[in-house]
Amino acid sequence: SNATVGFVGLGNMGSHMARNLLKKGHPVVAYDAVPQNVLALKADGASVVGSPKEVASQTSILVTMLPASSHVLDVYTGSSGILRSVQKGSLLIDSSTIDPSVAQQIAQESKASCATFVDAPVSGGVNAARDSLLTFMVGAEKEEDFVRVKEILNKMGKNVVHCGPVGTGQAAKICNNMLLGISMIGTAEAMNLGIKLGLDPKLLAKILNMSSGRCWSSEVYNPVPGVVEGVPSGNNYKGGFGSALMAKDLGLAQNAATLIKAPTPLGSLSHQIYRIMVNSGYAEKDFSSAFKFLQDQAAE
Ligand code: NAD
Repeated sequence: SNATVGFVGLGNMGSHMARNLLKKGHPVVAYDAVPQNVLALKADGASVVGSPKEVASQTSILVTMLPASSHVLDVYTGSSGILRSVQKGSLLIDSSTIDPSVAQQIAQESKASCATFVDAPVSGGVNAARDSLLTFMVGAEKEEDFVRVKEILNKMGKNVVHCGPVGTGQAAKICNNMLLGISMIGTAEAMNLGIKLGLDPKLLAKILNMSSGRCWSSEVYNPVPGVVEGVPSGNNYKGGFGSALMAKDLGLAQNAATLIKAPTPLGSLSHQIYRIMVNSGYAEKDFSSAFKFLQDQAAE
């Protein structure tokens, strides 16, 4: 029979991921800080509890999908956190995007409680989460840990890659998202310019996507409403991957780059642009709203 999985963090991504575990026959014990999110998953068959600590007392395989480092620290090491009641031999999988050094810190504390912690951040948007098409980048100390992790993550994604020891999954993820932030702003700039030059947005996207400017942001997740069906740009930038989360990831890349003295000029500029967006009412809008932000700048 399928193992019971604990799940903490049922937001835009986690709700889909937990639902896919249910669909594939894993009983799920779930918790989120927002009661409404918990109730939605209960309706789909999960059993729900009142804290991360309670999740850990009922299951020995846990997945967490939380906004940022501070939430992950709280959920693992806080007074009602997972490590307060973790069972020996438990497997703790964090799929949030956080600081690699925080992942390493929690791994140390988990080891002290005889549990194994791995970082397994994901790439792919909410639709990939819904359709079990995520890519997981895993930082795991031992190959045998990775094998255990892979079996669970395969139920929620199509690619599970072992990057190296704990923290390296996060390293891979923040490199990817730095490039994504840069490419989204670039796509938004190019689309905005072309539209102002009189081009039809769909035609322009079609040309970019058969040319060398093509990228995920232009092809799969175009930021201009109506160019691609079923993405947040067509839904007033609701759902998806919030600009505040993108600003957070670009900040993680800047922290890491500063520490090791790697030059990241465009990553730095993208970080500044997303921070301005966050302070201009775009925090909760999907990060493809960079297009709308540029359009608004031009309005007179
Ligand atoms: P989200 O804000 O929609 O969901 C986070 C959930 O965590 C919320 O439901 C919130 O209530 C819950 N939460 C916060 N603090 C909590 C606590 N202390 N205890 C229990 N629950 C708590 O975020 P998301 O879009 O699902 O993203 C989650 C993570 O995945 C982030 O690190 C993000 O960077 C990353 N990510 C997101 C996407 C995307 O497209 N949305 C893609 C790849 C990676």
